[in-house]
Amino acid sequence: LDPTNSNYNSEELDIEKRLRPLSFDDFAGQDQVLENLKVFVAAANQRHEALDHTLFHGPPGLGKTTLANILANELQVGIKITSGPVLDKPGDLAGLLTNLEERDVLFIDEIHRLSPIVEEYLYSAMEDFKIDIMIESGPNARTVQINLNPFTLIGATTRSGLLTAPMRARFGISSRLQYYSTELLTTIVERSASIFKMPITMEAAIEIAGRSRGTPRIANALLRRVRDFAQIKGNGTIDIEIARFALKALNVDAHGLDEMDNKILTTIIDKFKGGPVGLTTLATAVSESSETIEEVYEPFLIQEGFIMRTPRGREVTEKAYQHLGKVRINVQGG
Ligand code: ATP
Repeated sequence: LDPTNSNYNSEELDIEKRLRPLSFDDFAGQDQVLENLKVFVAAANQRHEALDHTLFHGPPGLGKTTLANILANELQVGIKITSGPVLDKPGDLAGLLTNLEERDVLFIDEIHRLSPIVEEYLYSAMEDFKIDIMIESGPNARTVQINLNPFTLIGATTRSGLLTAPMRARFGISSRLQYYSTELLTTIVERSASIFKMPITMEAAIEIAGRSRGTPRIANALLRRVRDFAQIKGNGTIDIEIARFALKALNVDAHGLDEMDNKILTTIIDKFKGGPVGLTTLATAVSESSETIEEVYEPFLIQEGFIMRTPRGREVTEKAYQHLGKVRINVQGG
């Protein structure tokens, strides 16, 4: 979440904060990831050591930032938050690192976007908790090595494929976050509604959850908009009628697919006769990078059964044709 992003006003930022789970117990789903993290945190706490450096990867909005905050809470340490593109020069990073207390967490979002020199500077900090800093300037300029407090770097990335091998090797813990089932998202929607003190029926919660692209952030965003409709056009309770009415008014896709998801499916059908089509060719056709298609869009489309990966490339399924209201044309002998 970027506070400088003008799409978020301060009230929305505040709401984001209130909805964010603060402990392992508040966090729904990602069972395997959580089980492991609980063990690593308990062990680090028992030894009074910093937790090993941790990498979270996976599509946007699945809880990477949330988990970083939870880890800091469970370790009972402070957290400093920054992101790859913000750290321009090693000096920016040195300022953050030297201010970390023992066992603190430094969270770097979009860690795949660190510049190579900042990334290299991070290596010795991660490995030996030491950095070189430049003191004085001009002819007296020299570097001195200083010791840092042992800390935990938590990196988050949507594009683990873009991380360099030396960077990846420096994380002792690496977890991939998965899309959430409608069932889990339903519990998240119900939890958020209760934080808003907004009555919601189970049916309505399921309806919102099912259209959230497997993503808690989208589920919460839809809930906020549906809540507005319930308040103004309804009787204050979010029931199935008001949920359907609102989601229709908001033009939310029946399966929660977003614009790029639909563009990918339409392109495979219209330009490549339903596939198979190679990843690079597809990427060019939709003007997106192949890594982003592979790591951000495709996993959801495959999980939901809209696309299949075959040895010859990507192919859409019957479900995609139905979803887009298109008819499959069988090309004989082609
Ligand atoms: P990005 O990397 O794009 O910033 P992210 O993966 O870091 O995304 P978060 O910002 O952590 O995602 O999560 C988005 C919102 O979804 C949070 O405000 C939080 O309220 C909610 N959320 C995420 N995961 C869960 C969960 N497991 N249970 C309940 N709410 C969740």
